[in-house]
Amino acid sequence: MSEDSGPARAPSGTHDVLWPESTRWESVLALFAGHVERAGYGLAHTPMFEDVRVFRRGIGEGSDVVGKEMYEFEDRGGRTLALRPEGTAPMVRAFVQHRPPLPWKAWYATPAFRYERPQAGRYRQHHQVGVEALGSEDPDLDVEVVALADGFFRSVGLSSFGLRLNSMGDEVCRPGYLDILRAYLDSRRAELCGEHGQRLEANPLRALDCKRPECLAATADAPALVDHLCEPCRLHFERVCAGLRALGVPFTFDHRLVRGFDYYTRTTFEFSSEALASAQNGIGGGGRYDGLVEMLGGSPTPGIGFGLGIERLLLACDAEGVFPVDPIPLDAYVVDVTGGQSARDLTAALRRAGLRADRAFDGRSMKSQLKSADRSGAQVAVIIGPDELAAGTVSLRPMRGGGEQRTVPRAGLVDAVGELTGHRAIDPPPTVSGVP
Ligand SMILES: [Zn+2]
Ligand SMILES: [Zn+2]
Repeated sequence: MSEDSGPARAPSGTHDVLWPESTRWESVLALFAGHVERAGYGLAHTPMFEDVRVFRRGIGEGSDVVGKEMYEFEDRGGRTLALRPEGTAPMVRAFVQHRPPLPWKAWYATPAFRYERPQAGRYRQHHQVGVEALGSEDPDLDVEVVALADGFFRSVGLSSFGLRLNSMGDEVCRPGYLDILRAYLDSRRAELCGEHGQRLEANPLRALDCKRPECLAATADAPALVDHLCEPCRLHFERVCAGLRALGVPFTFDHRLVRGFDYYTRTTFEFSSEALASAQNGIGGGGRYDGLVEMLGGSPTPGIGFGLGIERLLLACDAEGVFPVDPIPLDAYVVDVTGGQSARDLTAALRRAGLRADRAFDGRSMKSQLKSADRSGAQVAVIIGPDELAAGTVSLRPMRGGGEQRTVPRAGLVDAVGELTGHRAIDPPPTVSGVP
C-alpha cells in the first residue's frame, strides 16, 4: 500500500476473483483435474518462486518473458529469485530434482507473474493450469497431450476455436534451417519491423511470429521449417498429424507458429478462440521441449506439455456464451427471531448432514432476515418464532417455485429440508489449493 491516503487497492495488473465468479474458477479446476487425471496425470505443487537461473536457462535470456517481464528480486540471503512467469520450467526443475519414475505425467494449477502492460485479458498475475509429460519421445504422447487440451476446451463448452500445429525441428535440423531463414530475411531486412530487423542475428524465428504488418508481409513466402526437417523429425511430425486425424482432433498447419521460448523442439501447438479479437485470442498451447531437462542439469529426457490461462479461457467462454456463472444455492436459510440459539444449533445440524445452510446474525427483525433469506438464493427458509420455539417445531417456507409453508417437529428438520430440496447429502465442493 502506498503512503498516499485513500483505500487500499490491488496492485496494478492484478485482479480479485470473488464469489459468485469464483464458483466458475472452482468448476474450471475441478473439470481440469478430472479430465487430466483420467489420463493418468497427477497433481504437483511447486514453489511460487525459483532460482532465477531456472527461467534464464530454460526459457532463454533473449525472450521477452525473461528479458523484460520477469519479477526478479534478491532475498535477504542474497539469492536472486524470480516469481514464476510460466508453468513448465518449475515443473521440469522439480522433475530434475526428484527423478520420479518415467514416464512422469503431472499437472499443475498456479499463478504466473509477468510485468506486462496491463490491458484487457493480460495480467501481471494470471492463472494457469497445464500438464507436463516427461520421459518419452513417442509421437503418440504428443497426440495425447494435444487431444487432452482439445478435449478440455470442448468439455467447458467451447466450440469456436482452432488448433494450429507446427514442428520446430531439433538440434540436428534447426540450425541449418535458421541459416536459410536468416539469409532469406537478411535480403528483406529493410522490410521488417524495426525490432526484428535489428534482432535478426540473435533469433530470426521471432520475425515469423511477429504480428506487425511489415513482418507479416516480408515473411509471407519465407522458407518453412517443416520443409527442412531431418528424417526423424519429419517422421515424428507425420505421426503426430496422423494421430490427431485418427482421434478426430481438427487442426491446421502453421509455419509461423514458433513459440517464444527457447526450450521448444519438434511439436508446437496453439489454440485460438474465434470468438475473441485476434490480438488476444490465444487460449492455450504448448509443445515438446526435449532439451529442457538437460538445460536444467538433468540427464537428457524428452518432454511435452501444454498450459492454458484461466482468465483468457473464461473470456472465451463469455464470448461464446457458455460455462456461465452458476453458483450452487443454499438449501436452507434459518430465520430465528427468538434470540439466535436455535439458528446456531439448527444451521450446525443441517451442515453436519451435508446440507448447505446459513443464517442471519445480530438479532435482526423477521422482515430483515427473510429478505436475507431471499437474497441468499436458499431454497427454503426455516423459521423459528416464539410459537415454534414453545412447541418444539420449525416452519418451512419454500422460497423457490411455490409450495405451502408447513410446520414440522424440530427433530425432523434435516429430513424435511432434504426432502424439499432433493439433497440428502451433498458432496463437498472440489477445491484446489494454490489458486483462489
Ligand atoms: Zn516484427
Ligand atoms: Zn530434426
